[in-house]
Amino acid sequence: MPVRGPLGLPASVRVCLFDLDGVLTRTATVHMAAWKRTFDEFLRSHEPGTAEFSQLDYNRFVDGKPRADGVRDFLASRGITLSEGASGDPADAATVQGIASRKNELVLAELAEHGVEVYPGSVAYLKAVKEAGLATAVVTASANGEQVITAAGFADLIDVRVDGVVAARDGLRGKPAPDTFLAGARLLGVGPAEAVVFEDALSGVAAGRAGNFGFVVGVDRVGHAEELAAQGADVVVQDLSELLEGRA
Ligand SMILES: [Mg+2]
Repeated sequence: MPVRGPLGLPASVRVCLFDLDGVLTRTATVHMAAWKRTFDEFLRSHEPGTAEFSQLDYNRFVDGKPRADGVRDFLASRGITLSEGASGDPADAATVQGIASRKNELVLAELAEHGVEVYPGSVAYLKAVKEAGLATAVVTASANGEQVITAAGFADLIDVRVDGVVAARDGLRGKPAPDTFLAGARLLGVGPAEAVVFEDALSGVAAGRAGNFGFVVGVDRVGHAEELAAQGADVVVQDLSELLEGRA
């Protein structure tokens, strides 16, 4: 094993690629709640008697993916196929894009009302990474990445951002494909072997593994450490501060 320095990373790492929701900000819970309300409303009216959307459904089928992929993959798990519709479909349309619109409305309303909470351990880690001279990227499926980073107050610690808007513009496939993480490394001038991926989603850890990144840190916020490891995380922590303390 390569030597691990004070950041808890192999010495070869020059670039840190952070997922946003659930890794740097507490917004994964906001997304989970918005998805649950959206899918439960849909299931009640279109598939009465079906089991409600659960945390396990979120972890397996939705978390980390582009919004429309999450809709399609969860519905497919219940044997439901909907017509795609068009991007920006109204929130009451029974289409993939309509359901995606409804979910986004709920997220934006929640963020507008309660703001963005950060994980203090993650902000401390971001500062340590910058002080050590490493470059940073946020790599997120969220189309609201820029607003969330700004509201969270750590924009000055992030060198580049690959979010849902950038991915759509550049035709990058979402997680579990490695494309968005590879784009982040490329923007910072390194190959995957010199970059580390920080992820709380099973799909995101799988993307880190698929891209042959130098190191993959799984961040367990919901008690699924074993599944993160099974997807290919090199180490699993509950908080990034564990890496600074050398406890990981
Ligand atoms: Mg996440």
